[in-house]
Amino acid sequence: DLEGTLRVGQRANERTRTLGIAFTGCTLPGASEPLFSLQEGTMALGLGIHGEPGIEESSIASADEIAGILVERLVADAPVAGAARVAVVLNGLGSIKYEEMFVVYRKVFDLLQQRGLEAVDPDVGEFVTSFDMAGISLTLTWLDTELEGYWGAAVDTPAYRKGEVSRRAAAAPRVVSASTDAGFSRGSDASRSYATHVVSALEHMLSTLEQRESELGDLDAVAGDGDHGIGMTRGARAAVDAARRAAAEQAGAGTVLIRAGEGWADRGGGTSGALWGAALTSLGESVGDDEAPTPVELASGIRWGLGKIQRMGGAALGDKTMLDAAMPFVESLTVELDTNSPFDAAWTAAALEATLGAETTSTLSARLGRGRTHGDKSLGTRDPGATSFAYIVTALGEKFSIIAQKKESLS
Ligand code: ADP
Ligand code: MG
Repeated sequence: DLEGTLRVGQRANERTRTLGIAFTGCTLPGASEPLFSLQEGTMALGLGIHGEPGIEESSIASADEIAGILVERLVADAPVAGAARVAVVLNGLGSIKYEEMFVVYRKVFDLLQQRGLEAVDPDVGEFVTSFDMAGISLTLTWLDTELEGYWGAAVDTPAYRKGEVSRRAAAAPRVVSASTDAGFSRGSDASRSYATHVVSALEHMLSTLEQRESELGDLDAVAGDGDHGIGMTRGARAAVDAARRAAAEQAGAGTVLIRAGEGWADRGGGTSGALWGAALTSLGESVGDDEAPTPVELASGIRWGLGKIQRMGGAALGDKTMLDAAMPFVESLTVELDTNSPFDAAWTAAALEATLGAETTSTLSARLGRGRTHGDKSLGTRDPGATSFAYIVTALGEKFSIIAQKKESLS
């Protein structure tokens, strides 16, 4: 059952150590440059499977020396002291020949034996690659009786097979109706008219993100996996599509935002996709379909969305995440509106705080998310999520100011 799966999965995770070595970075489909590059004759230790750069660089070592580095570092961090039985996976990252992996494994096996570690059912090959990255990773799981039972069990999955699995006739697929097709009640006139502004705000977000896509990707490549620009535009595009569809079906502003959030979370991917999606959905729940929110109500809905991000991600101010821009933004927006600033002016002032917040993230070291293992590498670079947040609210502020000026000149 799910609980048992979780328990075993967590135990396996606690008892597993893994470390990789790369000779080249990987190139994301559509990108013209690899996520990181290494000078001729150097290798990176501790790369991430999503293409994060290594935590250390050194000159290229021999196969035996590499085996030594990997075994030594993993054993130094062993979750269990003394002799043990360990599951071993020597994994190719994309461009390493199997022969070369076997050469490394030869030494790995010796070194494990010398340390009283018995390799149980070892695997050498490509199991989790990182596109075209040249490199290998070594994974050791310190087994107990239960885990060893599972490690030896027959499996048949798309990415990993072992032993003989009796093939049962496939069950007929269950048809699950997509939640996006579920009906909703038509919003009030005021809410539907507000919804058209919501759609155009989302469209404006999307075009801002498209302009910044490669810049955001570059920021994320410093200590992350380089996908922040791609992920944000993909999420925003899905949000715009879903919002337009809902608005065309006469949904109110709340439902339009909820659909946008669901679309974003579905398609955006990554940490930012889950967080932005959930935040928009929360904002939509708070706005509702009965009437158009006042600026103060909108601000409190945004605060509600921010709370969702905090609860889901568990980050705090100063952890070098999007919160470092979003929290000062919401704080300032609330204060400005409390002192009766017009909406566009309040938003613009708050966006300035978001920009300052995003800028100060360059002095911080990442403690959460993909950047955490490369924390210090991110020093001197702004957090991608905080930066995209600041770009979005700044662009929206410019739009709101233009609308306000037009209104003024009309009256
Ligand atoms: P991924 O990290 O999954 O590749 P992205 O690259 O799209 O996703 O987004 C990275 C951004 O997500 C970071 O720059 C950071 O602002 C934000 N982030 C990561 N973890 C958290 C968290 N726990 N809480 C809030 N924001 C986070
Ligand atoms: Mg990323």
